[in-house]
Amino acid sequence: MTASIIDGKALSDAVKADVAKRVQELKTTGIVPGLAVVLVGEDPASQVYVRNKAAACEKAGLHSRVVRLDADISEQELLDVVHQLNDDDEIDGILVQLPLPRDMDSARVIETIAAAKDVDGFHISNAGLLMTGRPLFRPCTPYGIMKMLESENVSLWGAEAVIVGASNIVGKPMAMLMLAAGATVTLCNSKTRDLGAQTRRADVLVVATGKPGMVTGDMIKPGAVVIDVGINRNDDGKLVGDVDFASASQVAGAITPVPGGVGPMTIAMLLVNTLEAAERRAAHHHPA
Ligand code: NDP
Repeated sequence: MTASIIDGKALSDAVKADVAKRVQELKTTGIVPGLAVVLVGEDPASQVYVRNKAAACEKAGLHSRVVRLDADISEQELLDVVHQLNDDDEIDGILVQLPLPRDMDSARVIETIAAAKDVDGFHISNAGLLMTGRPLFRPCTPYGIMKMLESENVSLWGAEAVIVGASNIVGKPMAMLMLAAGATVTLCNSKTRDLGAQTRRADVLVVATGKPGMVTGDMIKPGAVVIDVGINRNDDGKLVGDVDFASASQVAGAITPVPGGVGPMTIAMLLVNTLEAAERRAAHHHPA
């Protein structure tokens, strides 16, 4: 193996420790940052994510509230819950865990969250602010990746950045953040012809497709930084990424593992976003 391993777990611990310190400082002004996580139904993976998010909040001294709703709740009832949280002074951040069950319109639900409390950064106005270079909340997964690159001293200025996967929650906001950092960005999707020709140009390669092991060592430029966002369970029940770690780590200069790479950073950045929302509330209550 030639690649160095980017330790997302260690970096996330450092980020969370910094959040905990800032939370204590904020508490001296009488403000406790609060995150509400809304979970509809009993999806097992979502239950684990929600539990982890709430535990991370408590550990860093934030107040967390999990709102559990039955899978058969109507969309209007869910919207009413979101409205109540929008009006709740103890809550700085609201997150509705996706996917929502059945035919619920997740875009409509997310757009009901007050943009100032949209700590996932998925609200259309936050997406627009990010696109126009005035981000309020950066979506947690790409934000965590930017933090990892920064901590590894990877400069994006003038670099070739290739992103495989163009979802609203990972690929597209990733492209915007990398563009803003001065990279030349290529955003690939399932229709991309000759994917390897694109990925082999990358100084920094981000893969977020949900297709286990689809990016192999022969698709990577020697020495490139490879960020694997994928979280997939293979037949043995083991977690694997979208990058074939065995072959990729022979070629890359640095690579994130799965688990222990991007995943822990995503939760850490959720805490950062919630803290920053509370800091803005504090500034609003106590103008300088
Ligand atoms: P989506 O399914 O929403 O999007 C997948 C994207 O990948 C689409 O743009 C799709 O293209 C593209 N794609 C699919 N197959 C290929 C292919 N063969 N070649 C090129 N592009 C392809 O996924 P998400 O962005 O929500 O998630 C991606 C992965 O990241 C999943 O494994 C998920 O579990 C993981 N994830 C991890 C997080 C973390 O914290 N570590 C957070 C969020 C997600 P098209 O647009 O053409 O359909």
